Amino acid sequence: MRILVVEDDKDLNGQLAAALKEAGYAVDCAFDGEEGHFLGDTEPYDAIILDIGLPQMDGLSVLEQWRRDGRAVPVLLLTARDRWSDKVQGIDAGADDYVAKPFHVEEVLARIRALVRRAAGHASNELVCGPVRLDLRASRVTVDGNPVKLTSHEYKVLEYLMHHVDKVVSRTELTEHLYDQDFDRDSNTIEVFVGRLRKKIGIDFIETIRGLGYRIDSASHAA
Ligand code: CA
Repeated sequence: MRILVVEDDKDLNGQLAAALKEAGYAVDCAFDGEEGHFLGDTEPYDAIILDIGLPQMDGLSVLEQWRRDGRAVPVLLLTARDRWSDKVQGIDAGADDYVAKPFHVEEVLARIRALVRRAAGHASNELVCGPVRLDLRASRVTVDGNPVKLTSHEYKVLEYLMHHVDKVVSRTELTEHLYDQDFDRDSNTIEVFVGRLRKKIGIDFIETIRGLGYRIDSASHAA
């Protein structure tokens, strides 16, 4: 999952980015409204953290423009605590949630987790398909109740595919959602991770759809 952080306070931006990376997200950072708007317009993020008070272009204008252009990406606004009108305007402008400053990073992480899973149509923090259970909060995976140890890359691939069960996900899509802008992207590495995942969670769990990508088919894993 890939997140964009738009916040002009360098310390706060860095703090959020570090916590998100620690939690396993790929993260891009923007420090003003124009840069943030451009990235959100051109890159496929799974969620965006957007400050309201930004240089060049304020957060509400950025958000309004994305929504006008049909960008449905979940957006978490950062607002000032005492400005209730910001929250109302923000939600009216198309924000999905907000956190008032100062905040605990843990709260931001929990809200981002919820936004990402809700956007994919999941109500719970545990994604289940056949024998495989993935706990988003603890980043843990079990197969038939037995814990499976995955590397962070293997986990990220499985998490993305489990979020999008029954959908064919191309290698390009996986690459775009699992790595940040600066990462040296090579879609062959995805194949390697999928190969290792299959050895750990069951050879048939992830299908290869020739020429198109990968799919976890819920019907073929139904109990
Ligand atoms: Ca600011």
